[in-house]
Amino acid sequence: MVVGRHRETKAVVDLGAVYHNVVEEKSRLQDGQELFAVVKANAYGHGLVQVAQAAKQAGATGFCVALIDEGVALRAAGLTEPILILGVNSPLEAVFMAQNDLSVAVGDVKFLQDAAPSLKQAGLKLKVHLALDTGMGRIGFRSPAELQLAVRTLQGTESQFIFEGLFTHFASADTNDTAYFDQQIAKLDELLAVVKQRPRYVSFANTATAMWHAKFSGNVVRYGIGMYGLNPSGTEVSAPGQLRPALELVSQLAAVKQVSAGTSIGYGQTYQAPADEWIGTLPIGYADGWSRRMQGFKLLVAGQFCEIVGRVCMDQIMIRLPHSFPVGTKVTLIGKNGGEEITAQAVADYAQTIHYEIISTLSERIQRVYVWNDEQ
Ligand SMILES: *Cc1c(COP(=O)(O)O)cnc(C)c1O
Repeated sequence: MVVGRHRETKAVVDLGAVYHNVVEEKSRLQDGQELFAVVKANAYGHGLVQVAQAAKQAGATGFCVALIDEGVALRAAGLTEPILILGVNSPLEAVFMAQNDLSVAVGDVKFLQDAAPSLKQAGLKLKVHLALDTGMGRIGFRSPAELQLAVRTLQGTESQFIFEGLFTHFASADTNDTAYFDQQIAKLDELLAVVKQRPRYVSFANTATAMWHAKFSGNVVRYGIGMYGLNPSGTEVSAPGQLRPALELVSQLAAVKQVSAGTSIGYGQTYQAPADEWIGTLPIGYADGWSRRMQGFKLLVAGQFCEIVGRVCMDQIMIRLPHSFPVGTKVTLIGKNGGEEITAQAVADYAQTIHYEIISTLSERIQRVYVWNDEQ
């Protein structure tokens, strides 16, 4: 991927905010509980290695990723803490994962059967976290009998595996209605009844579960969205403590012009200036992860909200300015500007999605710039 280092469009990532958010969550944990930083998808768009290192400094003792390759990238950066791959993977990758000291989620016995011979041949043991499907419907054991068989396989004398952990994932820990959460707890209890000896890491909590259902954290919290300073529920439930958003998305005016009434802006003539007005163009578009749905949304220029007019192009967008501004003037798409703020939540609301998607789909084409602010 080519990164646009020579254009003034950038995601400014405040590692001090990541640090603060981890420290704050850690202060809410009980004795013996640990925090694993969830850094999948390029750390939700913030930069995999940089975030992992800031989280580690703040006291994270492990990492969670989605892909084997993300785990390998952390190892290549010199991180030696446990790394859990949250998704299930092919048994053909077992030796590779073991070679890189990656721990993997396992959701059925067949994986263990199929992976064992190659591990044995390579003389390696693979660290395994059993995934329990208590109602998420994604991966994991659903029947106590099959779970019991998996545990026996892991603990057998000839085992090619290390039974390192078990975890479950809640589908609705972020809402005021706890009925489904409680149902998942009941299912969890049923499954756990067959696991007589608990492994080293027992993890039941993502950010939302850790924030609002502390009792069900196990001894590891898989902390994702909170680390980036965003509330997992959006706006439904208020977050404990003070979350500091870690990412700002900024660009600048690359061209400024005055157009006369009736001038069309952008593909498809979806906007005609109703009067003479000032139009600014910025170098960011949908190929950067700034969705076409954002037409009509207002960006910040010198503390004033300026509407995106005309369609969002692949690499550029146009905004209506209240008056002329010099080329080079900063434009904020996410973050603070002149006493006003655009939150990732506001962008998500407008695009009819969730902030997780807004930040994690900012393309790698956008350069990341790292700062460390102690306070905000
Ligand atoms: C992504 C993910 C997390 C992190 O969730 P947040 O809501 O960002 O805290 C935790 N566990 C699993 C299994 C995940 O896939």
